[in-house]
Amino acid sequence: MNLGISALKYIEEVKNGNLTVEEFISKTIERIQKVDSALHAYLSINEQAIDQARQIDKKIKSNENVGSCMGMPISIKDNMCVKGTKTTCASKMLENFVAPYDATVVSKLKNEDAIIIGKTNLDEFAMGLSTEFSAYGPSKNPWNIDYVPGGSSGGSAVAVSANESIASLGSDTGGSVRNPASFCSVVGYKPTYGLISRYGLISYSNSIEQIGPITKTVEDTAFLLNMIAGKDSQDNTTVDNQNEDYLQGIDSGVEGKKIGIIKEMTQEGVDAQVSSALTKAISNLESLGAKFEEISLDMVEYSVAAYYTITATEAGSNLARYDNLRYGYDFDLEGYEFNSYISKARKNFGPEVTRRMILGGFVPSAGHAGKYFLKAMKVKSKLTAEVNDALKKVDMLISPTVPILPFKFGEKIDDPVALFLVDSNTVTANLTEKPAISIPFEISNGLPIGIQLMANSMQDKMLLQAAYALQTTVKLPEVPA
Ligand code: GLN
Repeated sequence: MNLGISALKYIEEVKNGNLTVEEFISKTIERIQKVDSALHAYLSINEQAIDQARQIDKKIKSNENVGSCMGMPISIKDNMCVKGTKTTCASKMLENFVAPYDATVVSKLKNEDAIIIGKTNLDEFAMGLSTEFSAYGPSKNPWNIDYVPGGSSGGSAVAVSANESIASLGSDTGGSVRNPASFCSVVGYKPTYGLISRYGLISYSNSIEQIGPITKTVEDTAFLLNMIAGKDSQDNTTVDNQNEDYLQGIDSGVEGKKIGIIKEMTQEGVDAQVSSALTKAISNLESLGAKFEEISLDMVEYSVAAYYTITATEAGSNLARYDNLRYGYDFDLEGYEFNSYISKARKNFGPEVTRRMILGGFVPSAGHAGKYFLKAMKVKSKLTAEVNDALKKVDMLISPTVPILPFKFGEKIDDPVALFLVDSNTVTANLTEKPAISIPFEISNGLPIGIQLMANSMQDKMLLQAAYALQTTVKLPEVPA
């Protein structure tokens, strides 16, 4: 059995009676047992998956209504609540936290008969881009286990790339869906801000982040969006998408579309192989009728600094709730007065989260806010104005998703600024609330390279059509077994 099939193919096979849900789920679990001790995509596995598969098979057999996922195995980043399962955010602070409810995205998937096969690894509280900051050890890149898989949704990208789940949901604050998708050669989607409910996503930087699908194909992303996008009364930042069908017309092509090549994301600091992949992607899209011009966005130079200033500020506030009193890990109160207990308990956060919280207390504080936080907010609004102007001239923007190839474990971990700069092509979409996608494009000396397309807010459908067009120009090898 081919575990590497797309979601749409899986559904077709189950519908045609060529495959039972139980067969596929059992094989997926066998696959996880075989490869996950080396890859560590998962933090926990759903023990009831086979029972759930049998129940869906029963419904199929007796011609009852079956949801459109038909028992497909989907993994969920471990910063989203799945009722009754541990939701750790890859942090020791939440090692015993069992979610009391389902995130909206999770209940929508369950309603469509998806099987939540497990919870995937991440950088602690989604802060990082290599999974090296997971308190439970990193995930490994299935293309070469000496290399990072990207992050922070690294476990999700590994799971999809290594056929340990058909699709996954990650979260993208500054690139956390797109970066690991690029490093693992899968599709990663960051929707328009507000398109997907964040209810049940444990907040890191709530004004900036979004949940997004990680899939094998662009069509699968459109299929998932059809299920999970739209207004949610539990998250008042969500927007009404008029029940858009993202799959319908996905093969409309790019004929006549104008695409801007972002100068600041394609020159300085870009690896030669990455640059040449971009050149190829541009020429492939040109051969399908797209027109290109160079676009300069001056504010991109300041985007990473602004991003880390704003997100640290929000993280400082969002993570203040972890006092280990309401929920947390096993740490006895005995012998402590209130403040010393909390400060001692909070030592269980890892180094990166601690760094962000300290920074997040400092940059918006009286006497410093003007120099840091408010300046960052100005960059955000200027960058948004620049991108909006650019998107009056062109329909979409293109760049490599990540300026560099996947790197080795340990290579950047001691240099936070070097790590931050890996985000230089992804944070713009988050700061400006635009949709952006990473499309797997090339394997260069055994390491994946993804191409990023970005469009205007609520142009998600057009963006997916362009991504699909680019996808048709490449045939990538599957991850080595
Ligand atoms: N690397 C970025 C950060 O650490 C992005 C993480 C994310 O998108 N969650 O904040």
